Amino acid sequence: MPRPIRATISLPALSHNLQVVRNHLQVARKGCQETTGKLFGPPFIWAVIKANAYGHGLENGIKGFGLADGLAMIDLNDAVRCREQGWYKKILMLEGFFEQADLPYLQENHITTSIHHIAQIKMLEKMPAGKPIDVFLKLNTGMNRLGFRPADCAARFQDLLALQKQGRVGKIGFMSHFASADGQPGATDEPARLMKQAIDGLPGALSMCNSAATLRYPSLALNERENWVRPGICLYGASPFDTPTETATAFGLRPAMSLKAKLLSVQHLEKGESVGYGATFTTTQNTRVGVVACGYADGYPRHAPTGTPVMVNGVRTRIIGRVSMDMLTVDLDPVPGAREGDWVNLWGQDGPHIDEVASHAGTISYELMCALAKRVPVELE
Ligand code: PLP
Repeated sequence: MPRPIRATISLPALSHNLQVVRNHLQVARKGCQETTGKLFGPPFIWAVIKANAYGHGLENGIKGFGLADGLAMIDLNDAVRCREQGWYKKILMLEGFFEQADLPYLQENHITTSIHHIAQIKMLEKMPAGKPIDVFLKLNTGMNRLGFRPADCAARFQDLLALQKQGRVGKIGFMSHFASADGQPGATDEPARLMKQAIDGLPGALSMCNSAATLRYPSLALNERENWVRPGICLYGASPFDTPTETATAFGLRPAMSLKAKLLSVQHLEKGESVGYGATFTTTQNTRVGVVACGYADGYPRHAPTGTPVMVNGVRTRIIGRVSMDMLTVDLDPVPGAREGDWVNLWGQDGPHIDEVASHAGTISYELMCALAKRVPVELE
């Protein structure tokens, strides 16, 4: 018998959010046409499904993003699974491949890879020719994580052209990843300028935008080239921003993951009694406390403090005391009718927004989604 805790993954919400991104790009495209007189091709969308589709389940990502132009990920096993599940459109390996033995999988499964390190070029040189692999040359424009320096772009492009002539490399595109598209306005200006300068005169598709850049600066994906955006978090219904206006709801995004658990027990505490490990919360009046079947071993953040919102029977109330491994405790005073066996909505549909819970816990929704534990039974909507 499963514990009384459930995650619900909404495939319609995943599909809806993809369409929201497409519409957003379409509006930007029309706006760009009005101001510049040029109508650029609509950008293609790689739906990012790394990390088990941000905790939503790889297969659910494949189904929910069925209308995406491609799927982007980091694990080659996931890419192979996508093919096994019948995904016939493009697949991009965001971090590329890691060893020589990976290359036959890319060749056989028609998987596109980023190239960010000279070691990868050396491996391509040793790969049997005849089944060329499409590549995106990844440039480091300020993230300082992966990628070649913009100044080395032309030389690396020549390396790839040579491999193309040998039948080892197919199409060559260019990509970069922003460090702070969600930060101060203008944070993408310099990286975008570096990118433009580096690839000037070199033919090939371009991929720059994550969720934040796609939503805030869609014009970065509107130019003469074939453009690919790479949104992740917004497709799962959360916002990449931490501003009061750029909320997921304001963009029309719908939460794709919901988490709820039942009230296991209701305790009647008297004024001055404390709750849970460390006795971090003490009642200031007689209080009804609900004990909920969800803890940090389910993926609920242990650092969610007293005051983190939850919903019980449609009423907003709060966590009190410390989240423990298998349980957490909530204030039931605002919900006098709540009884053992009632569901407590922790985030998602009928609950507070996951962005709000993350913010209370001092983290980001990405982390909460990815941390959903395997032991939590999942239902599909
Ligand atoms: N592109 C790359 C290279 C990434 O590493 C990521 C995620 O970190 C994304 C796109 C998607 O980012 P986001 O979920 O912020 O849209």
